[in-house]
Amino acid sequence: MELLPSEDTTSELLHYERLFIGGRWTLPSSDATITVIAAGTGEIAGRVPEAVEADIDAAVSAARQAFDDPAGWSTWNPARRAEALESLVRELQSRGPAMIERLALQNGMPVTIGQAETEFPLAVLRHSIDLARNTPAEQQQPHTFGGTSTVRRRPLGVVAAITPWNFPQILASFKYAAALAAGCTVVLKPSPESVLDAMLLAEAVEASDIPDGVFNVVPGGREAGAHLVVHPDVDKVAFTGSTPAGRQIAETAGRLLRPVTLELGGKSAAIILEDADLDLSRIADDLYAATLMNSGQTCYIATRILAPRSRYEEVVDTFARFVSSLKVGDPRDPATQVGPVITETHRERVESFIAKGISEGARLVAGGGRPAGRDRGWFLEPTLFADVDNRSALAQEEVFGPVLTITPYTDVEDAIRLANESDYGLGGSVWTQNLELGMEVARRVRTGTIGVNRYFVDPGAPFGGVKSSGLGRELGPDALQPYQELQTIYS
Ligand code: NAD
Repeated sequence: MELLPSEDTTSELLHYERLFIGGRWTLPSSDATITVIAAGTGEIAGRVPEAVEADIDAAVSAARQAFDDPAGWSTWNPARRAEALESLVRELQSRGPAMIERLALQNGMPVTIGQAETEFPLAVLRHSIDLARNTPAEQQQPHTFGGTSTVRRRPLGVVAAITPWNFPQILASFKYAAALAAGCTVVLKPSPESVLDAMLLAEAVEASDIPDGVFNVVPGGREAGAHLVVHPDVDKVAFTGSTPAGRQIAETAGRLLRPVTLELGGKSAAIILEDADLDLSRIADDLYAATLMNSGQTCYIATRILAPRSRYEEVVDTFARFVSSLKVGDPRDPATQVGPVITETHRERVESFIAKGISEGARLVAGGGRPAGRDRGWFLEPTLFADVDNRSALAQEEVFGPVLTITPYTDVEDAIRLANESDYGLGGSVWTQNLELGMEVARRVRTGTIGVNRYFVDPGAPFGGVKSSGLGRELGPDALQPYQELQTIYS
């Protein structure tokens, strides 16, 4: 690995010259590079080679060879694979502080969130390790007409894992942990906006007991991703990203009859029921995690607040105080709750939604501009709109920034109708002092996941979306299944 001139991410450029392919740091096939801009300052933070088609081909070939090795990873018993994955847990753990620094630098991710971004993958890995140890690879059952049926779970093959920038480590772990535990080999293509963390992950893989070629990391753009999706030696595509990209991938996968898992966009609702506790001293932390975490750049968070008419102004006032109380600042400051958004272009996109909200007639209650005194980096004020029509662009389209909307509802039926009036179906939350009622309402919201008075993803339970939010599930008791194929032997 070449890292020039030093690993000090606070002041020096992080510069990689090679890609992690086949267990080695390999010279790229072209001189294309990805320049990483620090979201908090707008300055250059590092450079990484950009994988082009020939590099993707090399990575797939390494993964293919590792998968087809007759004594290799895919043939190891699951307990042996679990041991190797435990070594990856240790290597990632020891790089935790460096990972948090890189994420703060590159994404402008506040260190408190960076902490979760580095710890959650360990929990995901441990969950997959448990599944590998406890799921029999082969089970026999009596054949209905006499004799025996043996059902085998065998690893699917080479997995193309394509990930976005918003929680780059967690979302990559949703894919590689299960794929590796199942015995697959992996080519990870991270998003060009989040490559420095991906290179540190590659270093952890290199230092672990995972054999060469089993896990390859090739940062690149949309073209590299598209090339990976159609590659003849790829057996499965696991994608997290936007709905338009997911649709394109699904079309290609359909043509190729290639298994695919899609985790896509969201526009979730938070239903504030009439009896909800609105005391910010008690609920602010859970509200933050459920609505504005990571500057609103979180796929499942509930940015559409649905408020009962009976308490409407009280809800607006509570959210105005909540949004205005959030500390915007340097991602490295542990007190910071809202850092910058990922890029200058993305900030412009979020600002265009704010302008659209105003032109659509929504009432701007808090924020709406760039915070004073932050003229470097891509900062935005946490923003709140009230009186938002649920069918407006602001309420229907994914903004992916620190912008909340409030829409009034008349009764619980109306609230459920509004929550479901969306193309998306990923997350959401219900806020009430009556847990039973909260569960009842949650059951009627058509999303893959939802919380009551909190929202916190559990590696032990399935995660994913319905409608335009995706296909298939990650995590949970069946996490390995999308990376296995079943073979039945009648005897
Ligand atoms: P994006 O779709 O632009 O890119 C995601 C990844 O796919 C990147 O690595 C990109 O290079 C690659 N890519 C883009 N087009 C491709 C194509 N046609 N073929 C193959 N690869 C392609 O998304 P983004 O801007 O990086 O991420 C934000 C989006 O991701 C939001 O819509 C967000 O909701 C979604 N997301 C969903 C989840 C979830 O679990 N459902 C989690 C996080 C983010």
